[in-house]
Amino acid sequence: MTTTTPTTPAQAWAALRDGNARFVSGEMQHPSQSIDRRAEVSSEQHPFAVIFGCSDSRVAAEIIFDRGLGDLFVVRTAGHVLDTTVIGSIEYGVEVLGAPLVVVLGHDSCGAVAAATAALTDGQLPNGFVRAVVDRVIPSIVSLVGPDRPLSAVDAATLGHEHVKHTVDMLQSYSVTLAEAIAAGRCAVIGLEYDLADGRAHLTAAVGDVGEEPHAR
Ligand SMILES: [Zn+2]
Repeated sequence: MTTTTPTTPAQAWAALRDGNARFVSGEMQHPSQSIDRRAEVSSEQHPFAVIFGCSDSRVAAEIIFDRGLGDLFVVRTAGHVLDTTVIGSIEYGVEVLGAPLVVVLGHDSCGAVAAATAALTDGQLPNGFVRAVVDRVIPSIVSLVGPDRPLSAVDAATLGHEHVKHTVDMLQSYSVTLAEAIAAGRCAVIGLEYDLADGRAHLTAAVGDVGEEPHAR
């Protein structure tokens, strides 16, 4: 395993992909988790990726990518929904800390996507501010529905995929900082879809060059 910190979007994706492969096969190396590493990063941090993922307890970033302290700048909300402070946190990771890659990390069987689907199909709305989360998933889902395609005809995997893709698109369109970093080749934004059962993170969306084309699952 290389100990060199990735500095390009393609190197960053390769490091995450390699770590995820170790996790999938049960051959984790737990890098950056030693006492020496803790001391090394105590005064400064240079994470090589911003991970913006769902809060789901089964999708823990450092574990599924086999990384450790100082490697990943992690932002998580239920259903990876965006708001201004979330975008600000992501911009901080790219602009101030210099991370060359932003990852939108979704997963199958996401409760937030299911709740948004329920809200649209039978009007079930959650209480309190959980509703604000659901409200921010709905725009991803309604884009799939039309006169000839009711929501009931769209499977859950397609809804989850669209939500990841839509989140990637929104990030680069809302954030001038990110759009400029992508245009300059300093950063890329990718969408990964994590499979809860086998632990693999699939590249399904990309804005900018990461050395690999996204593919449908
Ligand atoms: Zn989720």
